[in-house]
Amino acid sequence: MSNLSEMFGSKVFNDRKMQERLPKATYKALKNTIQNGEPIDAETANVVANAMKDWAVEMGCTHYTHWFQPMTGVTAEKHDSFITPHGEGEVIAEFSGSELIKGEPDASSFPSGGIRATFEARGYTTWDPTSPAFVRDTTLYIPTAFCSYTGEILDKKTPLLRSMERLSEAAVKILHLLGKTDVTRVFTTVGPEQEYFLIDKEMYDRREDLKLTGRTLFGAKAPKGQELDDHYFGSIKTRVAAYMRDLDEELWKLGVYSKTKHNEVAPSQHELAPIFCTSNIAADHNELTMEIMKKTAEKHNLVCLLHEKPFAGVNGSGKHNNWSMSTNTGENLLNPGKKPEDNLQFLLFLAAVVKAVHEYQDLLRITVASAGNDHRLGANEAPPAIISMYLGDDLGALVDSIIEGREYVSHDKTKMDMGAAVLADFKKDNSDRNRTSPFAFTGNKFEFRALGSSLNIACPNYMLNTMAAEELSGFYEELKDADNIEEAVKGLVKRVLTEHKDIIFNGDNYSDEWVKEAERRGLYNLKSLPEAFAHFLDKKNVELFTKNKICTEAEMTARYEIELETYSKQLKIEALTMLQMAKKDIIPSVSTYIKTLTDAVLAKKALSVNIPSDAEQEIIVSLSEKLSKFAKEASTLQSAVDSAAGESSLELALYYRNTVFEEMQELRRVGDSMEEETAKTYWPYPSYSDMLFGV
Ligand code: ADP
Ligand code: MG
Repeated sequence: MSNLSEMFGSKVFNDRKMQERLPKATYKALKNTIQNGEPIDAETANVVANAMKDWAVEMGCTHYTHWFQPMTGVTAEKHDSFITPHGEGEVIAEFSGSELIKGEPDASSFPSGGIRATFEARGYTTWDPTSPAFVRDTTLYIPTAFCSYTGEILDKKTPLLRSMERLSEAAVKILHLLGKTDVTRVFTTVGPEQEYFLIDKEMYDRREDLKLTGRTLFGAKAPKGQELDDHYFGSIKTRVAAYMRDLDEELWKLGVYSKTKHNEVAPSQHELAPIFCTSNIAADHNELTMEIMKKTAEKHNLVCLLHEKPFAGVNGSGKHNNWSMSTNTGENLLNPGKKPEDNLQFLLFLAAVVKAVHEYQDLLRITVASAGNDHRLGANEAPPAIISMYLGDDLGALVDSIIEGREYVSHDKTKMDMGAAVLADFKKDNSDRNRTSPFAFTGNKFEFRALGSSLNIACPNYMLNTMAAEELSGFYEELKDADNIEEAVKGLVKRVLTEHKDIIFNGDNYSDEWVKEAERRGLYNLKSLPEAFAHFLDKKNVELFTKNKICTEAEMTARYEIELETYSKQLKIEALTMLQMAKKDIIPSVSTYIKTLTDAVLAKKALSVNIPSDAEQEIIVSLSEKLSKFAKEASTLQSAVDSAAGESSLELALYYRNTVFEEMQELRRVGDSMEEETAKTYWPYPSYSDMLFGV
């Protein structure tokens, strides 16, 4: 298929296909559900299911699956065929409304954080009509939410959908107060920029650590890393370009608005950014994008690494979550317009975000916490673990003038003169980009930059939506009875910005001074997942989620348990993988190499002429010492893992972080220094140079 517009969405049961294939009344009812959140009735579901099935069968499908996002970090699917017995030995393809609406996967093997132990093992998946169904291979995929038999949520989509509702309700009320009575719904919009690494499949297969943990646990630095800055936006290699082309086509067929692709900072690192859409679809599309990235790599004999820190010493991968709010009348609520100083609506929404980020900075940190992402935050390549926000020069100056009660003098956007007649002059971006800030205003949206590359973006987005909904509801309560709404809004904006200005920081987030300054301001600096999650169940956070009906306290506790358990398990797997690599590969290899050198020395000695063998002897001595240290470190790590214990899942996670993780670093240090001295043919694994420059 060469025609782009024909290809785009060809595998999606999208609006155009619904319109073509559904009776008018059914189409209208479904649209009402999608746009206004109205519940769907059984009759409509039946008609939709049948049309969907007919289309899917025409596309070559034999199966359908309820596609859902349990708490595991990957999506799940269970395939059922459409066949229904029909007469003697005959079958027909059938798909009913109830099969579309509800699935009953056995939930017992999905993490539930203890919720399910007391209930039935059964779980339900329910159709999410707001995210379109699509076809992959011979299966019709139906995006669904996942809950336990008794209705506890067990997935990431449900809280996101709920948070979108809450935000819409709160924002619409505010807009009505401000006179925008034509607005009936507000959507949150998201555009996630996705980073990834591509390495050769053959090298990947020889790395036990990449296969089992997604990151290299050993590996001496390559002589060349990213210091020359020659990879970022560099010309794309033929093999990578072919991969990207394939990936784009696959994504376009699935209706994903893949837009931008370029090389990233580290060698072998790349980025893909889609055009933004509503949060729910953006989250589903991002999950799909990550899956298709991995699948497409296989076809090109490559492996796509989505781990946050696959290689030490070069940048890891993250995700920038561009987030805003838009009305059903098409207005972006974070657009400052030409004169933001007079745009009370914008200032009110801005104040809500500032207050939200300040009050729930711990939740924002928690939502991006993972064993992988802990390697990045605070490592001068990603924003620090301290959450703050950046408003840019112009908006920053406006906020200052509001706080100080001064008049704001807007200076025109600086015109940049490129100094060459052939280059058109362009206006400097209003929001100069401070790349070190975790939460930056970028013109008409906020960019939350602390996400790890493998994270499901549903989580940070339901946090953001819920926080913003909470603040907007509070504002509404305060403003609803005001005699002079304009004065009341002005007063509120000034007060809120003054109270919460400590969250705003426009300087270098990587500097040591900021760490001290942030401490002085009383901002959190939660360095690792366990330290961050220790705050998840703080009273204010439980209140936020329960009051806004995003989840219950029991569901929050379940999430807390799952995250901490997963963290400990991941670190344990990493430690055991290191030990296996050490014992089965590294120690024998180095020992063999030492023996070879020793043999060479002995052979030389056996000759009657005196041939110097100091080169070999030096290596023999040095490597033998290191090998002995390495074996000791390995047994220290082994005992650290063996004695892992904790009174609670939090304590266990902290033990893994403070003891096991530290021992792993020690073992690696000695291992990497042996790699530097061992002949390439003897070292059991592909080197950093091979992997990073091998595609
Ligand atoms: P970069 O940050 O790399 O310079 P851009 O500024 O071009 O990139 O945009 C990054 C992402 O922000 C894109 O995915 C884009 O679609 C998204 N984006 C733009 N406007 C909005 C919006 N109103 N809401 C959410 N995302 C948006
Ligand atoms: Mg960006």
